[in-house]
Amino acid sequence: MTIAKEKIRFGFTVSKDRQIDFDANSKSIALQVAEAEPSINLCISCGTCAATCTAAQFTDFSLRRIILLVRRGETTGLENDIARCMLCGKCQLVCPRGLSTRNIILQIHKALKTIES
Ligand code: SF4
Ligand code: SF4
Repeated sequence: MTIAKEKIRFGFTVSKDRQIDFDANSKSIALQVAEAEPSINLCISCGTCAATCTAAQFTDFSLRRIILLVRRGETTGLENDIARCMLCGKCQLVCPRGLSTRNIILQIHKALKTIES
């Protein structure tokens, strides 16, 4: 029996490597956003925003994850993800660190457009 079949038989697989190479990632979007809206640097990834987010109730959208990815320089595919935000501002009301979340979302959107053009 091949190794692949053995893995299926035992019901497990080897997960894809999720190691993050911080040196290889570009931080240009994060720097651009932080310059326009410095409060992004105060995020502690608590997830309170995601817990109250209207978009997150119906999709896998998460502002917490988006901010993390931007700060890591992992911005591939973020444009579609961020388009789910309705800019309702609920996250801004509950954020314990007082982030200007709506402006952060707008600035990420703007920075992604700049990179594209
Ligand atoms: S609630 Fe505020 S501090 Fe917590 S993850 Fe969301 S943006 Fe960051
Ligand atoms: S502004 Fe966007 S991220 Fe914040 S609660 Fe509303 S839909 Fe969610």
